Amino acid sequence: MEPLTEPEHVVLLRETLRRFVADEMPRRLARQWDQRDEFPREVFARLASLGVMGLTVPEAYGGVGPDVVATMATIEELASRSMAICSPYIQSACYAGMNLAELGSEEQKRDLLPRVAAGEMMFAYGISEPDVGADVASVKTTARREGDAVVVNGAKRFCSGAAFSDYIYTLVRSGEADARYQNLTLLLVPPDAAGVTVEPQRALGLKGSATADVTFRDVRLPASSIMGGEKGWNAGWGMLVGPGLDVEKIEVAAMALGIARAAVEDAWEYSQQREQFGKPICTLQSIRHMLAEVKTRLEACRLVTYDAAARIDQGQEVGVATSMAKLFVSDSAVEIVLTCQRVLGAYGYVGDGDMERYVRDVLAMPIIGGSSAVQKNNICNRLKLPR
Ligand SMILES: Cc1cc2nc3c(=O)[nH]c(=O)nc-3n(C[C@H](O)[C@H](O)[C@H](O)COP(=O)(O)OP(=O)(O)OC[C@H]3O[C@@H](n4cnc5c(N)ncnc54)[C@H](O)[C@@H]3O)c2cc1C
Repeated sequence: MEPLTEPEHVVLLRETLRRFVADEMPRRLARQWDQRDEFPREVFARLASLGVMGLTVPEAYGGVGPDVVATMATIEELASRSMAICSPYIQSACYAGMNLAELGSEEQKRDLLPRVAAGEMMFAYGISEPDVGADVASVKTTARREGDAVVVNGAKRFCSGAAFSDYIYTLVRSGEADARYQNLTLLLVPPDAAGVTVEPQRALGLKGSATADVTFRDVRLPASSIMGGEKGWNAGWGMLVGPGLDVEKIEVAAMALGIARAAVEDAWEYSQQREQFGKPICTLQSIRHMLAEVKTRLEACRLVTYDAAARIDQGQEVGVATSMAKLFVSDSAVEIVLTCQRVLGAYGYVGDGDMERYVRDVLAMPIIGGSSAVQKNNICNRLKLPR
């Protein structure tokens, strides 16, 4: 069941993506990418040929966007099969495409956005650090100017896809720490620059997007690496918490929605095939109630995600709507997937099906992109509830 308001071009896009998922991302390969923690670059290249990377890129720079609803539909469809393709899609269309379109200098847009649209440009987010989680403005990685160069020192953690990205979108402290919000800068750091090391971290799920520890030792970059050009120096905070953050929140909602949808579809199907006591388990009231519940919650997740996305496309102020979507969908998706796992009984727990992968993947959703607690803070603060 699609939302009643789904625009015609998004319906067509979903049809194309479902064919792509069936042909190029069969379950067998999705399991293999997960088990090998592998990014299938050749499949990603074929995905790019559908033109979906350009959904975030304005026409003037070679894309067909920005179209947030279509971008979220793409994320949902890809996440319904494999995060090993979905996460790199987000790194390309969203991390690179949306940030460059919104915040890049004219030179950066002209140079990099056509490459995003062609599927040749990915950013990894270098925001978190060993001692820096939700309190992003306390980053300790530093950048200083030396003539025409910018010199970076420090460490980033949980930098997903750093090894195969073109740039690490790195938040640095570019002045004295006590200025807190006034001396942060975003830099584009190539992971193969001299002085950068990337060490993969082991994670429970989201395989294929290899999250990593990154260190910077006297990494020398040209001034053109400053996001937004020279006026971006010390202006990183405003860039980070701008409209891009709203899109980032619903990217996680769309991922969670896709994973939850896959779990519901599998549980629905399984319940009709698995027989116990001489009849399919879908005839048992306990199973029927679980399935009715997950279907209902899934529909609510879908509505809240695409409502927030449509509001962004309409240019509305969406700080509250996107926090609500991120909070509700990521927490609900965990409940949905865990309920679906119970429908499958033992087969939801063993490693040769897909359900145990959905469980591992969905558990990250309330953590990444601002935790559920942080979204609750945002909602109360933005609605001006006295503290
Ligand atoms: C698989 C994976 C991939 C990731 N990929 C990236 C990436 O590509 N780039 C990147 O920069 N980061 C990435 N992250 C990091 C992610 O964004 C962090 O989880 C996030 O920065 C929060 O940090 P933390 O999890 O260490 O939690 P902390 O901020 O240390 O919080 C710990 C606990 O305290 C709670 N808490 C913290 N502050 C508050 C508050 N003010 N009010 C109420 N409760 C609070 C949190 O909800 C949480 O329960 C990734 C993480 C994972 C697990």
